[in-house]
Amino acid sequence: MSYPGRCNCGKFVFKAPAAQGIAACFCKCCTRAGGSLCSLNAVIPVNSLEFSKGSYNELSTYDDQETTSGSPMTRYFCGGCGSAFQSVPQGSEIAYFKHSLLDDPVGYVSGNPPNMVLFTSKAPKWLESEKTPLSGGGSTPLTWPEPGKGTEYKDQQ
Ligand SMILES: [Zn+2]
Ligand SMILES: [Zn+2]
Repeated sequence: MSYPGRCNCGKFVFKAPAAQGIAACFCKCCTRAGGSLCSLNAVIPVNSLEFSKGSYNELSTYDDQETTSGSPMTRYFCGGCGSAFQSVPQGSEIAYFKHSLLDDPVGYVSGNPPNMVLFTSKAPKWLESEKTPLSGGGSTPLTWPEPGKGTEYKDQQ
């Protein structure tokens, strides 16, 4: 099963494989790069997007050396419209894919709620106080930690 998606300007059109996991990251670098409070990523094998328009080599990249985890990441984005595609820990076999690029991002994760929450200490308290903010349609609702008791996970290789 593969899932169609594209960037905002349509320079890149592709299909993505099913996610191996879903990671919500609250680190400063991901939130700054994505312009969002949290980066919700699908974990997929590196180079596993199938492009019908554009290619990995045509994506713009930024080598992020000052990550919160301390592990350098390469961030990929469309140079035409700025849509974020993925971040890849250097040398890693997996990519954190920005699955909101998919035509149906909600359907993609509906049976697959986040099973990894990174840097929970940087999440807002109002979100942490909700026990299952993403439970709708999910088979394994994510339980957020109590405020101040979040586990600080490192980005996993
Ligand atoms: Zn684009
Ligand atoms: Zn992050």
